[in-house]
Order: sequence, then C-alpha cells, then structure tokens
Amino acid sequence: MTLNTSENFENGDETKINYYHAHVYYGEDAKARETAARLREKVWNKWHKKVRMGRFRDQAVGPHPISMYQIEFDREIFDEIIPWLMYNRDGLSVLVHADAEDAWRDHAWYPFWMGDKLDLRLDWLAAGNRKA
Ligand code: ZN
Repeated sequence: MTLNTSENFENGDETKINYYHAHVYYGEDAKARETAARLREKVWNKWHKKVRMGRFRDQAVGPHPISMYQIEFDREIFDEIIPWLMYNRDGLSVLVHADAEDAWRDHAWYPFWMGDKLDLRLDWLAAGNRKA
C-alpha cells in the first residue's frame, strides 16, 4: 500500500480556525433526507445555543456535489459534537472542514470525512468563490 501524499501540500496554521462546518449529505433519496432531518433535529436539541444550523439545500450548491445542509459550530464544542456525529450519523456522509483563512485549502487539504467520501467541486472554490 502506498500513501497518497501531495507534493503540493502546504501545512497550515490551525490557530487561525474560526469555526467549523459539518456538512451532512443526503442527495436525492427521500429516505436519506428523512434520516438527515432526524439527525438535524437531534443536533439542534443538543446544541441549539452553540450551533448555527443551515437550511436544507435540495440541490448541489457551491463545492457540494449533492444535497446537504451544514452545521456551523464553534471550536469549543468540537470534542463533543465530532464524537457524537461519528457514532450517530446514521450512515450518512459527513464532511468536516474548518473555516480559517482559505476556503480552497480548508476543503481540499484539511477536511475529514465520516462515511463515504464525495468528490467536492473544488474548481468552484478555485474560481474565487468564498462561501462554502
Ligand atoms: Zn462549509
């Protein structure tokens, strides 16, 4: 097995992280959307004072290739919400990325996935769009 390292990879500065996004993907499947809705409600009930919940985006938007919603959360609850999502994501794919100073790097190099990894539309970020 060979590890796939990028010669172009640049290490970053994690002290610049402002907050995180967890993107919960459900795509076109109605059942997956219901599962995602239940997950969203659980997160809201547990952390409603500490998360900013995005609305359902029922189409591909920005760098995200399929339907999803985002959960924006502060650094202070990372140790609570990440393990909880690991164990309670009901099989859905979740992308976790930081917001630091460069949206492209935050999505291309520094994120991590729970479940199946999707191909982000990084060209959308490379085009200079900021919100992701
Ligand atoms: Zn995001």
